[in-house]
Amino acid sequence: MSVSPDLARPIVDRYGRVHRDLRISLTDKCNLRCTYCMPAEGVPWLHKENILTTDELVRVAEVAAALGIVEVRLTGGEPLLRPDAVDVVARMSTIVGEDGPLEVSMTTNGIRLPQLAEPLVEAGLTRVNVSLDTLRRDRFHDLTRRDKLPEVLAGIDAAFAAGLAPVKINAVAMRGVNDDELVDLVTFARDAGAEMRFIEQMPLDAGHTWTRAAMVTGEEILAELERVFDLTEFGDRGTSPAERFLIDGGPTTVGVIRSVTLPFCGACDRVRLTADGQLRNCLFAREESDLLGVLRSGGTDDDIAALMHTCIAGKLPGHGIDDPGFLQPDRPMSAIGG
Ligand code: SAM
Repeated sequence: MSVSPDLARPIVDRYGRVHRDLRISLTDKCNLRCTYCMPAEGVPWLHKENILTTDELVRVAEVAAALGIVEVRLTGGEPLLRPDAVDVVARMSTIVGEDGPLEVSMTTNGIRLPQLAEPLVEAGLTRVNVSLDTLRRDRFHDLTRRDKLPEVLAGIDAAFAAGLAPVKINAVAMRGVNDDELVDLVTFARDAGAEMRFIEQMPLDAGHTWTRAAMVTGEEILAELERVFDLTEFGDRGTSPAERFLIDGGPTTVGVIRSVTLPFCGACDRVRLTADGQLRNCLFAREESDLLGVLRSGGTDDDIAALMHTCIAGKLPGHGIDDPGFLQPDRPMSAIGG
């Protein structure tokens, strides 16, 4: 890997935001069909020949590390459906950036963690976020169109047993779907030793059915939790999307991610790479930078670095969900990488 000194500098946008977090989608495929994310029959899958190879992913991560990226989060689709997911982690976690080896974490639905948590930890995975919107088996089945709650719960157990820390559990709060389970989810996470994190639903569904009215706001989430728990603001948020609160004085915490009602774009340090090699400077970006083209046409490491700088130079100050002209991105969350 060789990036020229004039390009081996931090990726900074026009607003001074320094980018240190690279989110990589390993696949657009998923073994669930969450109603708010994908239709029952799935979405038109990316062309197999366009999916970045592991060598290509590693090359991009090496260049990114030379540009100041210190954390790589693997996501999807479902990242653990990629047959060589453990190998990807092993190779990514040996890449050395300015703070030492890259920190490699993952967002997963947990279903394959019983088999893979241990090898993933041996490969260098440090942290995991497991998505879990409901603790009720019938509801899980309705919501994900798959009867797989026991596998997810076993996956959370496996994450702890393998030594992943912290384990965070992510739920999208949805009106009339799981908004009566917020307290139960926090209690479940607290008993398990995990941090529960609630996410406001964003307009990123394949069916473009999102409405603001159906979204449960962060304020509503906090009000519901405060009926039962004493919440105290906790910690310096930094570039994290979550506001964190101690529950009943701690040590357990709960996080609330108000992407829609209290956007944190001003502190955003994230850049995304889709499974088919497109760089995105925002979840809601309308444009992508074609890294696949650069990689497959003999591009140099400088070409990759230059594209990363150009992509971020075009980043807007905010996601614009509230702008009158807001248009939902063409790709759904599953194809961008959540
Ligand atoms: N399959 C993995 C998983 O389940 O965590 C990774 C990909 S999934 C798209 C990542 C996260 O995005 C999940 O926690 C999911 O609930 C969340 N998500 C999907 N659609 C969303 C939306 N419209 N708004 C907010 N979060 C969403």
